[in-house]
Amino acid sequence: MRRGLVLVVSAPSGAGKTTLCRKLLATDPEISFSVSYTTRRPRPKEKNGVDYFFVDENTFQKMINQGLFLEWAWVHGHFYGTAQKQVEEALTSGRDVLLDIDVQGALQVRQRLGRDAVLVFILPPSLEELERRLRARGTEEEEILKRRLAAAKEEIAKANEFDYLVLNDHLEEAFSNFYAILIAERQKNFRQQELLSRFR
Ligand code: 5GP
Repeated sequence: MRRGLVLVVSAPSGAGKTTLCRKLLATDPEISFSVSYTTRRPRPKEKNGVDYFFVDENTFQKMINQGLFLEWAWVHGHFYGTAQKQVEEALTSGRDVLLDIDVQGALQVRQRLGRDAVLVFILPPSLEELERRLRARGTEEEEILKRRLAAAKEEIAKANEFDYLVLNDHLEEAFSNFYAILIAERQKNFRQQELLSRFR
C-alpha cells in the first residue's frame, strides 16, 4: 500500500482555489476533502459537516487545549482549524487528503508533517486581475475588498515557502497543471517502497 499524502492548497481569495479544489475532488476518487472546523457562521447553502464543522469559540478553544488540531489559525476574524485525527487516519490507510487552508495553516502543516505534506500555492495572473475578479463577484464591500487585496499581497509574499506554484490564468490549463502535481507526487519513491519490496 502506498503512503497517503496531504495536498495543501493556499491562495489569496479570488485566485480560484475553491474551483480548482472542487474540480480535483470531482475528478479523482482517491483524494478526499478534510472538513475544517470554524467559528464563522454558515453561509446560505453551506452544510454542517460538509463544508465545515461550525462550532462556537468555546468549543474551538477547548479543541485547541486538547491538542486536537493539526493546525489552526485566525483568518479574516474567525478561527479555522484542521482536525489531526481525520488527516492521520487517511494517511495511514493510504488515502490522500486535500486541505484548503490559509498560508499560516499551510506552514504549520509543513512543520508537523514534513514530506507527507505537499504545498501548492495558486497565483492569480496579477494583482490587477485579482482585484477585477473580486469586484466581479460583487459581494464584497469596498473596505473589505481593500483588506482582501492587502492580505493577498502578504500571502503572496510567503509563496516561496511552498513546493509548487500554479498560475491560474486559464482554468483548464491551471487544473491540468494542478492535477499533474498530485499524480507525480504519488509516484515519489518514498511513497511507493512497497512496490520495490515485491522484488526483494
Ligand atoms: P472561507 O471562510 O471563505 O470559507 O475561508 C476563509 C479562508 O480560511 C480561506 O483562505 C480558507 O482556505 C481558510 N481556511 C479554511 N479552513 C481552514 C483551516 O482549517 N485552517 C486554516 N488555517 N485555514 C482555513
